[in-house]
Amino acid sequence: MHTLDDLDVTGKRVLVRADLNVPMSDGAITDDGRIRASVPTLSALTDRGARVIVAAHLGRPKGQAVPALSLAPVAQRLGELLERPVGFVADLTGPDAQAAVAAMQDGDVLVLENVRFDPRETSKDPRQRGELADELAGHAEAYVSDGFGVVHREQASVTDVARRLPHGAGRLVAAESEVFTKVLSDPDRPYVVILGGAKVSDKLGVIGNLLGSVDRILVGGGMCYTFLAAEGYDVGDSLLESDQIDTIKGVLADARERGVDVVLPVDIVVAREFAADAEHKTVPVAGIESGWMGLDIGPETVDLFRSRLADARTVVWNGPMGVFEMPSFANGTRAIADLLSESPAFTVIGGGDSAAAIRTFGIPDDKFSHISTGGGASLEFLEGKTLPGLAVLEES
Ligand code: ADP
Ligand code: MG
Repeated sequence: MHTLDDLDVTGKRVLVRADLNVPMSDGAITDDGRIRASVPTLSALTDRGARVIVAAHLGRPKGQAVPALSLAPVAQRLGELLERPVGFVADLTGPDAQAAVAAMQDGDVLVLENVRFDPRETSKDPRQRGELADELAGHAEAYVSDGFGVVHREQASVTDVARRLPHGAGRLVAAESEVFTKVLSDPDRPYVVILGGAKVSDKLGVIGNLLGSVDRILVGGGMCYTFLAAEGYDVGDSLLESDQIDTIKGVLADARERGVDVVLPVDIVVAREFAADAEHKTVPVAGIESGWMGLDIGPETVDLFRSRLADARTVVWNGPMGVFEMPSFANGTRAIADLLSESPAFTVIGGGDSAAAIRTFGIPDDKFSHISTGGGASLEFLEGKTLPGLAVLEES
């Protein structure tokens, strides 16, 4: 893979696709982990006297300008972290953006507006994406790919623009690729994957493909109810993907055949409603009544998961065990985070919310071997899929 070290950047305009997709609440950044993760690449470029133009997205504006999803506050935070002024232009490739780029000096950093305000960014039509990529490429003389969270996507600012400019991987993409290559190709065993979170249908597809490489899968969070339903349990009003139950039955049968241990919760914290102050109690999985929804794994499940992690030498964790944003339903996620922070295994955390949970609990990042900025991308990597945003960096 080409990296930014292979590029001649001094005095050049360099377009960087970064992943600055941070969680926000009422206009404030609640976890700046991804902005921090973009710093090594951006400072490597400014140190060499490049003029750095940053393209990134925030949230899902679906091709329209959504003021609440402007990158302006992100650009400001980036400036604080880089300890230098960072420009922002509320435009992507129009005259305002062109003027801002033309005014840049060596070592300057300019953040463009949310690239997903432009519908061509995520278009399925390669011609439309190509048109936007032409405009983006017009800003710069080289391209650095550093948004690991988007390298599994065929998008204008990720793949199409890379084909139009001399290109290389940034520090983050290079580091993440190295970690996941190691886990994919040569994991120390037992190799355990813990899956949770709410993007249920996205992640259910992944499990089948992981069966060929992992020794154990522990399932919690919003994912587990579809598994419990596949095992015949009533899950009350919990998150459930009924149309996936048959798929999961197949996955469970396949797992048994391959000798992969799929470990499901044995007790659940159920609540009357999805609210921080909801009435709640812990019940065995066979005791989830209708009118109640599962919002966390219970203490016996934590003990079970602990026993299945004790001898692990590689652990990948993607997705919180419960609704950790609400203190009553954070215990399972906190317990797993604590366990992994003390584990001697090679521990990899993937998923924006999982990483945010760890920081919410105040556990230092260096208690884990690697905290990935890419949730979907890391899972697709571990499935053995070719990620288009990485493949394109190998082309000349
Ligand atoms: P990640 O970003 O780590 O990949 P996801 O985006 O898939 O994780 O899911 C994170 C979200 O899942 C959190 O906001 C959390 O509140 C939610 N969640 C976890 N468990 C449950 C559950 N049992 N029911 C509903 N939502 C859940
Ligand atoms: Mg998420």
